[in-house]
Parts: sequence; C-alpha cells; structure tokens
Amino acid sequence: MILMMLGAQGTGKGTVAGILSTELGIPQVSTGDIFRKNISEGTALGIEANKYISKGDLVPDEITVPMLESRLKEEDAKNGAILDGFPRTIEQAQKLDEMLNKMGKRVDLVVNLVTPKEEIIDRMLTRRVCTNQECKTTYNTKLHPPKVEGICDKCGAPLKQREDDSDPEAIKRRLDIYEEKTSPLVNFYEEKGILQTETVSTAVNRMGADVARDLVEKLK
Ligand code: ADP
Ligand code: ZN
Repeated sequence: MILMMLGAQGTGKGTVAGILSTELGIPQVSTGDIFRKNISEGTALGIEANKYISKGDLVPDEITVPMLESRLKEEDAKNGAILDGFPRTIEQAQKLDEMLNKMGKRVDLVVNLVTPKEEIIDRMLTRRVCTNQECKTTYNTKLHPPKVEGICDKCGAPLKQREDDSDPEAIKRRLDIYEEKTSPLVNFYEEKGILQTETVSTAVNRMGADVARDLVEKLK
C-alpha cells in the first residue's frame, strides 16, 4: 500500500506519517529526512542538497527523484511506504507514477492536511526534532512538548530546531513554493479520486494524532 502525505509545512505530515508507519508496519519515506541524514553525515549528496535546502529552495529532480526511487526499492518498502515530502511538483508526481507503474504499484491514498495560515508559521517556529537520525521524532514546544524539555521521549537524545525552521526568509520561501508548485497536486490527486482532505487545527481541536488514529482505523 502506497500512502502519501500532502499539505503545507507545519501541518503535521511527519507526525501523521510516523504514527501510520508504526501502526501499519510500513516505512515512512521522508525526502527531507533523507536529505538531513546525508547533510549530517557530510555525503556528496548532502553537501549538494544543502545548497538548496538552507535557502528554502527545492532540491533539483536530478538529485531527488533517483534518491526516492532507490529508497522505494529497498527491502523494507516491498509491501508499501508512506511518502512524506514527495512529490512536491506535478512533474515529480508524474515521475512517481512512472516509477510505481514499473514496480507494479500505484498510489492508493493521498492524505491532504490543511491548517489555517495563521497557525502554520507558529507551528514551524515551535517545531523541534530529535537529533538521533535513527529516531527523528518531531515535537512542538507548545502543542506536544517532550516530557523533559529539550530531550526526546523515545530515545533520550537532545532535540534541536531545524536550521531552515529558524530562518524567517527560508520559511517564507518554502511556504511560497508550496503555494505555487505543490498545491496544484491537490487537484491532481482529487481528479484521480484518491484524495482525502483533513483539517488539522487547534481551532477545531483536531491534531495530527487524531487524524492518524482515524486513518489507522480505516486502513487496518
Ligand atoms: P518542510 O516540509 O518543512 O519544508 P521537509 O523535511 O519535507 O520540510 O523538506 C526540507 C527541505 O528538503 C525542503 O525545503 C526542500 O529543500 C528539500 N526537499 C524535501 N523533499 C523534496 C522534494 N520532493 N523535492 C525537492 N526538494 C525537497
Ligand atoms: Zn529520539
């Protein structure tokens, strides 16, 4: 089963994907996480990708698409995956269709998370991630803080703020790119009849964990 998370930055894609991965037993495939792992390990891919990521720009397809393809071919993804952060353009979505086709697979469900604009920036500024690359759990200092400040509940590693989350210019750039390049994917998948839109907002008291719980119930 191939699931896909769609939605702007800070809507909780990673949180929902993480819960679905644990509950359904299929890996979360986050292109952002793979890039960050490469950056922290200083690989050639990481050094190249960071030129774009630090500014809030998209990493070129020549780097991103083959990286995603080889990840989907790994053993643990043979029964499916939860895509988080890919595709981000119509072009990437078309390339994804082609590659899944060759593997005899298709996208089964696209979960589109929507959060009011005024909540989004706040959620990005208060986001913290676990520095342990095997864990990478995301927290939020206001909405779901760790039990001990600055420490991951799951593995005890220190938490930090992502560099691109602490730079207002990079945040604005990422949100603009989402509007322009990624949001057309909502229609793209709606027309295929596989889109499920969910609101995540403190205003209606519905968080990522609630969405994830309902999805697990539906999919299990
Ligand atoms: P966010 O959704 O908060 O921007 P991600 O972890 O999904 O965070 O991505 C971080 C950065 O990695 C993006 O700003 C972009 O530079 C790069 N990136 C991630 N996925 C893709 C993709 N599918 N195509 C191009 N660049 C990507
Ligand atoms: Zn951790």
